[in-house]
Amino acid sequence: MSVIQDVIAMVQEKDAGQPEFHQAVKEVLTTLEPTVDKHPEFVKAKIYERIVIPDRVIMFRVPWVDDAGEVQVNRGFRVQFNNAIGPYKGGLRLHPSVNLGIIKFLGFEQVLKNSLTTLPMGGGKGGSDFDPKGKSDMEVMRFCQSFMQELYRHIGPDTDVPAGDIGVGGREIGYLYGYYKKIVNEYTCVLTGKGLEYGGSLIRPEATGYGAVYFAAEMLATRGKDIQGTVSAVSAAGNVAQYTVEKLLQLGGKIITLSDSNGTIVDEKGIDREKLDFVLELKNLRRGRISEYAERYKVPYYPNKSVWDVIGEQGVKVDLAFPSAHENEIDGKSAAALVKNGCYCVSEGANMPSNLDAIKVYQENHVLYGPAKAANAGGVATSGLEMSQNSMRLSWTREEVDQRLQGIMKSIHKACLEAAETYGKKGDYLMGANIAGFIKVANAMLAYGIV
Ligand code: NAP
Repeated sequence: MSVIQDVIAMVQEKDAGQPEFHQAVKEVLTTLEPTVDKHPEFVKAKIYERIVIPDRVIMFRVPWVDDAGEVQVNRGFRVQFNNAIGPYKGGLRLHPSVNLGIIKFLGFEQVLKNSLTTLPMGGGKGGSDFDPKGKSDMEVMRFCQSFMQELYRHIGPDTDVPAGDIGVGGREIGYLYGYYKKIVNEYTCVLTGKGLEYGGSLIRPEATGYGAVYFAAEMLATRGKDIQGTVSAVSAAGNVAQYTVEKLLQLGGKIITLSDSNGTIVDEKGIDREKLDFVLELKNLRRGRISEYAERYKVPYYPNKSVWDVIGEQGVKVDLAFPSAHENEIDGKSAAALVKNGCYCVSEGANMPSNLDAIKVYQENHVLYGPAKAANAGGVATSGLEMSQNSMRLSWTREEVDQRLQGIMKSIHKACLEAAETYGKKGDYLMGANIAGFIKVANAMLAYGIV
């Protein structure tokens, strides 16, 4: 058995009860098989065994008091996965589904993603099973303060710099940073995704969605196509989905779907600027449900269905797909339905939204497939740019940040293609992204000796 299969088996045995982590390790390590023969030094130094074990796992209790005066308690996590090439960097997720296995899968992916960005950032991830939905601003604030009361000991501008993820946007980052600043008494870049008034970067909120579209445009260009005139399916209606829609609109695309955890809307006329503004207000200020879009614009709404269910069941035709909600939202059946309905390009805004069966379907049908760690790396890359601006104590213009973001997405695309070709799988973005991200981290780990 190869070292790769041994490591996958070891993770499944030792990290029992963490299916998402097993899935991520299997997906990544399987594609690293061609590196084993080319790099006996990695095998000898047990890099494959070492890279799947986090540097450190921090778990803690987060007690807080709700508006009724009742004591509530949640679980807090920060997994500092690997800092071989820079301080730990990766978002905080607030969602009831959060557990150690999910945070470990996200942290592991983040290590390779951050390496791909070309910026000096290690990988980490954190969060809590706290559900911000339906909570008042004051409840969210009290939770964030209690969470930071423990987290502050483990982070720092040169140690670990968290950011947002599901359930953590501008409001939460404000509460977290405000409390950090109060207890540590330092105005340093310890979180990214900050407000513009206190050190945030222009384009950071837009970056993940914009980046996923830039990556799709790069993939399309390899087949002489572009975004202009295409029809896209976008899932979710959160941060990533919103700015995916905005960039697609700017590039002349038509977007016909959005969703949330309650259901999906299909707008065959297309989501235009005015409708997108409605969604921004609905989701970011009123924190309402996507069903209100259907009521307002008189379009079909499918309760308890994902975008991918609806495409399959209603035969909705699309050219491009931007899954932007959560892990494993597309399975083999949904992927087959996408292909059947004309989809030829999938660019992943969410983390691991396609399961292993779905990826197989894309590959068998020559779908241009931009895996998450490449396609959604624009968010963390722009977080890296926020760190640089904070260190230099200056702010770049919108155009300057956007240009750098575009440059980074182009170089990630190129790095994926080059690595795929070098290791014998021309055009395979999944293998290319995993190998290109891995080699840099592995070489750094090798240089450090046995630590
Ligand atoms: P967000 O602003 O909190 O939005 C999340 C969206 O996904 C919401 O529309 C939410 O619907 C939907 N959703 C979440 N869990 C769901 C579930 N189990 N079933 C159905 N819908 C669900 O989060 P986000 O920042 O856009 O993140 C979305 C994805 O992108 C995640 O996979 C995240 O890891 C990834 N990502 C984000 C960034 C970033 O910069 N923000 C960077 C890289 C990757 P409800 O409101 O109904 O829950």
